[in-house]
Amino acid sequence: MTKLGTETTPLRVAIIGAGPSAFYVLDALSKSGLNVEIDAFDRLPTPFGLLRGGVAPDHQRMKSVGKAYEKMAVSNPKFRFIGNVKIGKDISVAELKNHYDALVFACGAETDRKLGIPGEDLPGSHTATEFVGWYNGHPDYRDRVFNLNGKTAVVIGQGNVAIDVTRIMAKTDAELASSDIAAHAQAALKDSQIQDLYLVGRRGPVQSAFTELEIKEMGELSEAEPIVNPADFDLSEIDEAELQLETNHKARKNMGVLREFATHEPKGKKKRVHIQFYSSPKEITGNGKVEKIIFEKTKLVGAPGAQQAVGTGETIEIPCDIVLRSVGYRGIEIEGVPFEAKKGIFPNDEGRLKEGETPLYGMYAVGWIKRGPSGVLGSNKPCSTATVKTLLEDLDKITPAPHRDSSALIEKIKNKAIQTVSFEDWLEIDKQEIARGQAVGKPREKFVTAEALIAASKTVSKE
Ligand code: NAP
Repeated sequence: MTKLGTETTPLRVAIIGAGPSAFYVLDALSKSGLNVEIDAFDRLPTPFGLLRGGVAPDHQRMKSVGKAYEKMAVSNPKFRFIGNVKIGKDISVAELKNHYDALVFACGAETDRKLGIPGEDLPGSHTATEFVGWYNGHPDYRDRVFNLNGKTAVVIGQGNVAIDVTRIMAKTDAELASSDIAAHAQAALKDSQIQDLYLVGRRGPVQSAFTELEIKEMGELSEAEPIVNPADFDLSEIDEAELQLETNHKARKNMGVLREFATHEPKGKKKRVHIQFYSSPKEITGNGKVEKIIFEKTKLVGAPGAQQAVGTGETIEIPCDIVLRSVGYRGIEIEGVPFEAKKGIFPNDEGRLKEGETPLYGMYAVGWIKRGPSGVLGSNKPCSTATVKTLLEDLDKITPAPHRDSSALIEKIKNKAIQTVSFEDWLEIDKQEIARGQAVGKPREKFVTAEALIAASKTVSKE
């Protein structure tokens, strides 16, 4: 049998999706010592996935890891980025298999979990994905309109995404000026009339899913202040036990910050961030648009570390103008790939996809489509490394692809009048975005449509 990864027969790998997980796959394969040809496809004309389109624009320090990804790309001459190509639409998975020995799905979790409550789809009720995509200049969400003319916004969920969207709405224009927020969102937020922001969790402070750094920032805003109810910190014995669990250092740190907030008298700042616990969304109501959200108060049941919220029957109402639902993400299906609908992931063992219990040698997953939407950016490194380990252990079991280069595939893409974007093209986009940002005192001013990104990638400054 042909040995893959040798001088004469390189291992050919296609990565589907070019976000952080994909770059950790690239890194692990580059360090494998084998001869590997790697093409990373992305449906967008830009690489870096959630690093560009998800990480909050005011968290620039986190974005600096992009430089490491860039180094991984440019230091491997056998790596290509092929942007603006959607696998499953422009090119099928079956076609890819004809050209690559191994496919690694790094396509993330592209959609949101649903709440399943009445009024969820009323105008004025949006997913966090839409709002985050909008302020981060994601081409899919650039044209979304959010009503920031009212006084009250409600964010459902208490994860890091929920706290990101709340903070972005709570910040002043001056506080956002040093971020790379998209210009259209910056302008809209500058005119925002929102004064009361509710960040609402169905469980208690011990179970909040945000991290200490993120919650701390709420106490450091120039024109907004956190409001908490001190009664929420009278913990039950089970909560106290949960707080002491060895693995629960995040909750201990969060509690420290939240309890500190509870000791402050309100300073009368222009905006208030109400951090509200034990409230499960029941219904969003309004006459043709969001006007009110009804929550059922909850209590927790279960053992320490596994407590769940159950309704008490008591309801509370918050009149509001906009609702952002931030209750987690879900992966979506790609034709030709097994999908576990309940979890929204591609079923796998150690990263190797499986159909029922049958292992699919040559098909792998990394990141959120492998393990679900959890963890921070850095969590993707061990995740991708583990999948690459599985892939390399499988080499003898993988059937080599019949076509040993991608020229026919690239030709096919071109015949569909699709303009692909290479990594070199991306570096040109990057250069121009940074220059546009410098002109207005920002680290970057993004191009926010596919057309503008592609046009920028093919421009004169390269000549
Ligand atoms: P998440 O951390 O899973 O938080 C989801 C939140 O939604 C939880 O508070 C959860 O409450 C709540 N929720 C879920 N279903 C609900 C329902 N039916 N009704 C009411 N509330 C519900 O998800 P995320 O905020 O989308 O973040 C995704 C991942 O990205 C996380 O791993 C996060 O850490 C990461 N991320 C990190 C950063 C950063 O490092 N700064 C920034 C953004 C995202 P329960 O706990 O009760 O289920």
